[in-house]
Amino acid sequence: MNRFDSPQAAREWCRRGSRSGRSLGFVPTMGALHAGHLGLVRRAVAENDVACVSVFVNPLQFGDREDFDNYPRHFERDAELLESAGCAMVFRGTPADFFPEGDDLLREDPGPAACGLEGEQRPGHFAGVATVVKRLFEFVQPSQAYFGEKDFQQLLVIRDLAERLNGPVIVGCPIHREASGLASSSRNERLTAAERERAACIAEGLFAARECWQSGERNAQRLLMELRKRASNGALELEYAELRDPLNWSRGPLTGTVERAQALIAASLGKVRLIDNLRLDGTHS
Ligand code: AMP
Repeated sequence: MNRFDSPQAAREWCRRGSRSGRSLGFVPTMGALHAGHLGLVRRAVAENDVACVSVFVNPLQFGDREDFDNYPRHFERDAELLESAGCAMVFRGTPADFFPEGDDLLREDPGPAACGLEGEQRPGHFAGVATVVKRLFEFVQPSQAYFGEKDFQQLLVIRDLAERLNGPVIVGCPIHREASGLASSSRNERLTAAERERAACIAEGLFAARECWQSGERNAQRLLMELRKRASNGALELEYAELRDPLNWSRGPLTGTVERAQALIAASLGKVRLIDNLRLDGTHS
């Protein structure tokens, strides 16, 4: 596996590869890789001639300096995992490598999918995500790029972005969960074993709402009540719990009778902020 310490070196490698007509699958990450990331990587490996991964903790998408500073980083371990997953190249770089314009950098408009929920709780977050992803696409020029449904709203923002840029095909991948149901996340590393156990009630709330759906409930408020009831426990601070139309984000929070629903939730456990979501209708992850 090739390892590069700058996106410029990675760009040269990608250009050489694409000149020989090979398809390139790309997985952007912030590192501290877990089974969720590796699922995306294995899929990129299986569906393309070569697959590559970026590891970059993007300062533009963090509003909170402390969260950025505390974000887990272990590149060597990440590189070993990627090599075993069949990845052909991994690269990283400094903020100056990615954004040489410094303060003159123009941020990408993240579009209408950035409205509400994460976009509201984390002002500027999706502009930061869209800006770095656009740049990553410019460096890598992938045929297909892989993103997790774990960050459901981000996936919508990226799909819009790729369409606007005439960019790669965006492949959405199902959420990987720990045995307790807790969605795998790099931030879980910052939880103690006891906290991880308590955090599992976020997923329990989502599963309870889906069971409610499966038993015929279609009223948004009652589905949300079930979600909130099961997801609440003393240790967790619920930030939002909302139902949205997965096919029409701009409809906003769903109320009344719904024909399909994505349940989305954010909660904090001490200083660690966790998000999760689940499609209530159908058999999606
Ligand atoms: P991150 O390193 O958190 O920026 O995540 C990189 C990519 O991995 C994003 O597309 C995430 O949505 C995806 N991802 C993170 N956690 C999971 C998970 N538990 N299951 C599936 N995909 C995930």
